[in-house]
Amino acid sequence: MSIDRMSAPELLGLNRFNVDEEEPHIIIDKEICRRCAEKPCLYVCPAVLYKLDKNGEMSFDYAGCLECGTCRVMCKNKGIIKWAYPRGTFGVSFRWG
Ligand code: SF4
Repeated sequence: MSIDRMSAPELLGLNRFNVDEEEPHIIIDKEICRRCAEKPCLYVCPAVLYKLDKNGEMSFDYAGCLECGTCRVMCKNKGIIKWAYPRGTFGVSFRWG
């Protein structure tokens, strides 16, 4: 399939991830997230990794992170208590088809 005919989800599906199960590269503080009224992370993450669970609690899984840094910039209440690039050999490998 030609890359210019692929949808965004299809293109994202081409990426490969080597998830570091021992050391998360992003950590959130759910207490801070609970007090955050705007919760911009729910809307700005291109990989849609921030979600609210059925109890309204912030749910986040760093697997699938595109390492764009948008959540770090948009989180004004410092709910993201750690943001770093993954350790060497871990993280996303972008593939363009
Ligand atoms: S760095 Fe980008 S892709 Fe990763 S969690 Fe933040 S907004 Fe989502």
